Amino acid sequence: LAGERLLGELIDAFSTLPGIGQKSAERLAYHVLKMPRSEAMQITEAIRRVKDDLRRCTLCQNISEEEICTICSDESRERNRICVIEQPKDLRAIEESGSYQGLYHVLGASFSPLEERGSEQMSLDKLVERSRSDEVEEVILATNPDFEGDGTALLVTESLAETGVHVTRLARGLPTGGQIEYMNRSILKDAVEGRSSFKTAQDEE
Ligand SMILES: [Zn+2]
Repeated sequence: LAGERLLGELIDAFSTLPGIGQKSAERLAYHVLKMPRSEAMQITEAIRRVKDDLRRCTLCQNISEEEICTICSDESRERNRICVIEQPKDLRAIEESGSYQGLYHVLGASFSPLEERGSEQMSLDKLVERSRSDEVEEVILATNPDFEGDGTALLVTESLAETGVHVTRLARGLPTGGQIEYMNRSILKDAVEGRSSFKTAQDEE
């Protein structure tokens, strides 16, 4: 049946989404079938706009509707601090914690220390360039407290060494292996406020 085939295609499409298994995909597809057309079209339009109308901020790589994102263009933000994060969703978490007024830099990838892979996809050169500005005094590493996040923090710190900028990292006390995007916002706030100088093994020798 042609109708069954189209429904099957929608089920298959939903099941490619993270966290959506076959049963959930079926439930969603049948729900769409029952929905008023206008509501269903709102969803497709929202998806289309995210894909067509969003891009990367040319300064910080955050998602943005304009060439420069709302945070970079906000004159009230502190321009002497850059908080380095792996993904735009980490930015959202830190903003929601209400503990930070500075700028951001989205790496867009994390470094895998074992495979020594990932650094080529990171917007590291741009970060180094931004950190060279006299305006910037502090770079805060807010990578995830896991193996890859630690490797990324180390790589970023090494890249920034020549700039002489003060590098700090979120306070320890964040649950190890946890992801910043899922962290309790008040724990995250404490971690931002309690940040301290990031020391590499070389510094300690
Ligand atoms: Zn920006």
